[in-house]
Amino acid sequence: MIAIGIDIGGTSIKGAAVNDKGHVFEVFSMPVEKGEDQETTIIKLRNLVKDYISSQKFDEEIVGIGMGIPGAIDSPRGIVSYSNNLKWRNLNVRELMKPLGYEVRITNDANAAALGEARFGAGKDYRDILMITLGTGVGGGIIIDRKLYEGNEGKGAELGHTIIKMGGRQCSCGRKGCLEAYASATGLIADAKIAMEKNKETALWDLSRTGLNAKVIFDAAQAGDKVAIRLVKNYVKYLSEGLMNYFNIFRPEAVVLSGGIAKAGDYLISKVKRYCKRNHYGYEGSPEVDILVSKLGYDSGKIGAASLFFE
Ligand SMILES: [Zn+2]
Repeated sequence: MIAIGIDIGGTSIKGAAVNDKGHVFEVFSMPVEKGEDQETTIIKLRNLVKDYISSQKFDEEIVGIGMGIPGAIDSPRGIVSYSNNLKWRNLNVRELMKPLGYEVRITNDANAAALGEARFGAGKDYRDILMITLGTGVGGGIIIDRKLYEGNEGKGAELGHTIIKMGGRQCSCGRKGCLEAYASATGLIADAKIAMEKNKETALWDLSRTGLNAKVIFDAAQAGDKVAIRLVKNYVKYLSEGLMNYFNIFRPEAVVLSGGIAKAGDYLISKVKRYCKRNHYGYEGSPEVDILVSKLGYDSGKIGAASLFFE
């Protein structure tokens, strides 16, 4: 069985045929032009998918087209209600893709990534997992009993928008003190800028000449820079407190971390594990939650979108 899995990002769209063993065939991609009419982008994508399918000779039947899209996605109706990233509003993706003659299923991009990891990646040996994407924002995906849980109209699983600091930093969603405002790369960089202003001696000034990002901060901490070490320590606290909130609600078997920040790998994960253990995630007698790093990386979105057809 084969499905087309499409991962829509803020600047580019990538897709591929994926089979029900998780194998990814040749990849296609196109840019998302800034300011382009939203319908035009989807029609361009439709033509690209049409050419792709006719150019590849698949032995198996294509069962449908799955898409992961950032924003508030009305998955039952196949409509993008609103995407802040893409500036799309009330876009009927299913209707626009209909001329291809395949069933079209869409979901939020973090949900798609979670489904991909659950089926074929780090979460494949578990029934219940959460996936947290630590990038420009903080995305969440919930898998219960190996199935994607999306909430009413597909608008749930917004794990990044849970408050970890009452009256705290302004979040892009309109609330104050969300986990996203602290545990995203954007939040970490904001903290780093404040710390750098107070500490002119930190190596971060030198290291960030070509740009300040999460990697620069983690690298500086690993190299022993005191300011960066403190930033990472605070970051671990924010992320872990957020994770423990989820653990106490869902008690999943595992949580999978992905996105740019998860690339810090064991340096970050070992600290998060230690913090969570020390602060009792789970009272005595509750099972621990395995904390893992995504295995599929950038493929998780495509594989997960295709997996919407592999029930
Ligand atoms: Zn928020």
